[in-house]
Amino acid sequence: MESICISDQESSSNSEDSDDETAVQRNAFIVLQPPLERPDAITDEDSDYEDTVEGNNQLNEQLVDLLHSAANSALKVKKPPYSSSHKKWFDFQCRISKRNLGRLANRLANAELRAKALRALYGLKGNIIKDALSHKSICILFDSLIKPILLYGCQVVGPHSKTIKYISNLSCESDPTLALKYIANDHYEKFHLKFIKWSLSVHSKSSNIGCWGETGRAPLIYEVCKLSMDFFTRAKDSDNVLVSAAFQEQANLDLPWYSNLSKLINKYQFQANLRANVKQSTLITHLMKEEFVDNWKQAKADSPKLEFYNKIKSEFGPEKYLTLVRDPEARKSLTRFRISAHNLFIERGRYETPIIPRADRTCIFCSVNFGAKSIEDEHHVLVGCPLYRTVKIKSGFYPSSDCALVDSLSNQDISPKDATKIAKTVHAILTTNTAYTNYYKSNGFHIIYDNCIIL
Ligand SMILES: [Zn+2]
Repeated sequence: MESICISDQESSSNSEDSDDETAVQRNAFIVLQPPLERPDAITDEDSDYEDTVEGNNQLNEQLVDLLHSAANSALKVKKPPYSSSHKKWFDFQCRISKRNLGRLANRLANAELRAKALRALYGLKGNIIKDALSHKSICILFDSLIKPILLYGCQVVGPHSKTIKYISNLSCESDPTLALKYIANDHYEKFHLKFIKWSLSVHSKSSNIGCWGETGRAPLIYEVCKLSMDFFTRAKDSDNVLVSAAFQEQANLDLPWYSNLSKLINKYQFQANLRANVKQSTLITHLMKEEFVDNWKQAKADSPKLEFYNKIKSEFGPEKYLTLVRDPEARKSLTRFRISAHNLFIERGRYETPIIPRADRTCIFCSVNFGAKSIEDEHHVLVGCPLYRTVKIKSGFYPSSDCALVDSLSNQDISPKDATKIAKTVHAILTTNTAYTNYYKSNGFHIIYDNCIIL
């Protein structure tokens, strides 16, 4: 790879607030190397080839030259003149050494690979301006630069993991919440979730279900399963005597690599056979992902923490606002608000010691001003509470009822303008809430209200 250029040109052309200061940074580039010089291309002027055998042969030769030239350029890797200020973050420190090939089943080598992937992730974090990139671009960077390191050799190591065994034993009677917890604890997924949470700018304790749902990213273990199944099939059908003998040995001794993969393939094979003309591993992976989405829906519905999220999110898939909202702070606040990774009392009360009962997590403003005992949750701050009336009017989003709020936040055909309005309102509300919370925890507040508030 000689150069990497990432730009959000497409989305910036749709921007309605392109005169914002942040929009100046919108075209973010990561350039590790100078871009390739284009090989001598066939231009429009060359189109006067005659439609004869000679003319076609001539055109064919030109095309072959062009392909050779492109292939040579793509394979050529020049070392850039790195200065001390530009660390070679994606060079040898992240490269996998050849000796690891023979040590893949070794736990130490696995830990080494994860450490390398982590170094690459930190390198990525240090070398991009996250707020200047869309969420989609950040995901592309992860999938192109970090994931290949993390999944290196997963065809050999992956089937030994307990997670694949667990997935092959999952049934419709399994507890969906437990199943997702088990998958989240897989070492590939721990890394993946770490990335997702960083990309969404939510804290590390945020709900995994919410993070998977907002980004529409399925756990990496399914990709590991697909690669492993392809490797399994290649080894089984191999003409190579040694590979074939090794495969037979695995089968005869029923070793974990063979038995785990066979179980997995057998579990989904029956359903996969119903659809012809598609690669078996692709079908099985599709079925596994469908099973994951079913579990995700169930777990989301069962989670008391995600009560609000359950109302506004029904289908698994990336949320449009992640691309539409250009203001990074507003976008982050909207994500936190949606998946309850915010600081409203309904959520904050869970982490107090001792835990404050749900019914007591009331809005202090309404309590001291009107004597009302309203729970400070997402609906209250966006629909009911007078404290936020001014910011709502200023930002231009003031839902009249709980239903209107849910409709707005679950709307999949929302325009960039409306999505930005909602995100900015939510950001203003969360900022006001934090300021008010700090105020009522201060001494001045207690003097005014004569220590009558129990916090
Ligand atoms: Zn209130």
